Amino acid sequence: MEIFGKNVFNQDVMREKLPKAVYKNLKKTIDEGLPLDPSIADVVATVMRDWAIERGATHFTHWFQPMTGVTAEKHDSFITPTDNGILMEFSGKELIKGEPDASSFPSGGLRSTFEARGYTAWDCTSPAFLREEADVITLCIPTAFCSYTGEALDKKTPLLRSMEALSTQATRILKLFGNTTATRVTSTVGPEQEYFLIDKSYFLDRLDLLMAGRTLFGAMPPKGQEMEDHYFGSIKERVISYMKEVNTELWKLGVTAKTQHNEVAPGQFELAPIFETTNIATDHNQMIMDVLKRIAIRHDMVCLLHEKPFAGVNGSGKHNNWSMSSNDGQNLLEPGHTPHDNIQFLTFLMAVIKAVDEHAGLLRASCANAGNDHRLGANEAPPAIISIFLGDQLADIVDQIEKGGAKSSTKSGDMQIGVTTLPALPKDTTDRNRTSPFAFTGNKFEFRMVGSSFSIAGPNVVINTIIADALKQFADKLEKSKDFSGDLQKILQETARKHKRIVFNGNNYSDAWVKEAEKRGLKNIPNTPEALKELVTKEAVELFVTHKVFTEKEVHSRYDIMVEQYNKTLNIEARTMIDMAKHKIMPAAASFAAEVAQSLSAVAAVSDKLDVSAQRELLENISNSLSSMNKNVKALEQTLDATLKISDVAEQAAAFRKNVFARMLALRADGDALEKIVSADQWPLPTYAEMLFNL
Ligand code: ADP
Ligand code: MG
Repeated sequence: MEIFGKNVFNQDVMREKLPKAVYKNLKKTIDEGLPLDPSIADVVATVMRDWAIERGATHFTHWFQPMTGVTAEKHDSFITPTDNGILMEFSGKELIKGEPDASSFPSGGLRSTFEARGYTAWDCTSPAFLREEADVITLCIPTAFCSYTGEALDKKTPLLRSMEALSTQATRILKLFGNTTATRVTSTVGPEQEYFLIDKSYFLDRLDLLMAGRTLFGAMPPKGQEMEDHYFGSIKERVISYMKEVNTELWKLGVTAKTQHNEVAPGQFELAPIFETTNIATDHNQMIMDVLKRIAIRHDMVCLLHEKPFAGVNGSGKHNNWSMSSNDGQNLLEPGHTPHDNIQFLTFLMAVIKAVDEHAGLLRASCANAGNDHRLGANEAPPAIISIFLGDQLADIVDQIEKGGAKSSTKSGDMQIGVTTLPALPKDTTDRNRTSPFAFTGNKFEFRMVGSSFSIAGPNVVINTIIADALKQFADKLEKSKDFSGDLQKILQETARKHKRIVFNGNNYSDAWVKEAEKRGLKNIPNTPEALKELVTKEAVELFVTHKVFTEKEVHSRYDIMVEQYNKTLNIEARTMIDMAKHKIMPAAASFAAEVAQSLSAVAAVSDKLDVSAQRELLENISNSLSSMNKNVKALEQTLDATLKISDVAEQAAAFRKNVFARMLALRADGDALEKIVSADQWPLPTYAEMLFNL
């Protein structure tokens, strides 16, 4: 296809345009994760600049991912004025390093504003690309963002570090299996992105959508998603033409937008790219979110990436399909056909089981934000309890390993472990479990807790690191072993015994599972303030430090940033609700009440024999809800004031969750009650029926 990758400075372009030696040097850096040779930077910069200018670019930017979760950029023009005119300049120095004024990005205390230096450094493993926006074409250079003292201030740096950690440990394991060809292992990710579309006019009429990205009021329409007629249904024309443009835009950027379909809720859709190296998949997912939003505007729609834009219908997630592959071409989570590969597969599989069980809290924390609190554990996919779905066949094999039924013996070098009789697993297992938060799906795991608005960097930092750690523990023992096969058998058996509790193949939505999980000692962490604490436990800090993913200071700074983000989100939501109640809902309800009162007296004046009980009852109902709303607005204002006075961020977060959140729910109930009785023409907000069904 001609347009695919048209706007990407990819390996093909590099091979064609760069001097051979420079290309080789750069490719080695990219493939082997070696440090960049600064002496080639000038050449690469010149070639990159010429390529970009040929395609109409006038500006370049270091494109980075600060802790806000969205991408940031600082645009510079290629143009440099000189004595005799202008020069289109772009040096190696400008390619590899940038210095945006970083003072207003969250740093969690790592960098006070008076020493606001932040640096962006070229990540040559993710290709530079051109972004076309309005008439401006900008060369975007993916970069990492760190402080003057080298601390990570972004999402990319720790992700790259965690990939390195995983590669190191997984390669050790491969070596133990006699592999002499694999020198690197990369984690791969295919994130499925869910989103909602609504007509732009509705969006602009709702302060809550504008300010908070989700509806804070809104009564359920007569029809929700119960008919399930939207799911995989035919896609409306307006949406098709939107998707077509989204795809074209993404293809130009080298993003393999592959599948698209309607999701469960009305107005909800999904886009899935083909999986890639985690780093690139993460960059691409940021581009996907950006393109989804930008193109929607062109079609007079707004794309909502919030985890729960509408109460009562499904929220949006981002299924994070994860695996690891070696640079000699193996997917390490592919069960395969041969016994030898099967033991290797089982070793990696058991490492995942161990990792997920030991660090379930961290996985939960990696998906915690105010938006996702409306999904996780809220009676909707997926629950807040982490467990693994393996399917019957694999679960049975884990049982066998645990029982030691798999007998092992060493025979001059070759391995015989009973479990090697594992049959080749069918890819499309019929027993798909859609309720599990961490499901094995044939040759990869699907982590379903990630929220739709998230950068996938955070969750993948955790997945990579915890699995690296489990593999490290295996490798530490096995490298010293004199009886590889026997000791591996023991390790796997012990792992099965200890961590089998995390495996659950049943219905994760049932109450019975909540009880069962409690019996098994699995964590059920209900909300963000609680979940985030998992990031700063002694074990978590030790884990990150051991694998050089975060320093202790970085972990704490991230924790602070995330807690603050939670507090800010709830503060904005509460203030928006107060505003909407006071300036939209209460005036509308009051004037409707006055109208009903007038009609009541007018009708009564005609004859006292007329039955005005309906008007009276209506008036009573409006007045009661209005009065309740008035009280609840005041209560929310007071609670919010008190909460904002708490100086400790974690304590403040707990108060937001316990007190402010509860008050918000009470206020919403009044608003929704009023929506059901106030005359439709006088209701001041677009309704759920309009927003969800009128696309
Ligand atoms: P599903 O399994 O959800 O029905 P797919 O088979 O299309 O759908 O896979 C969903 C996502 O998983 C896609 O983005 C796909 O590219 C990705 N995926 C497939 N194989 C891997 C892998 N080895 N590593 C990571 N992601 C993968
Ligand atoms: Mg899926």
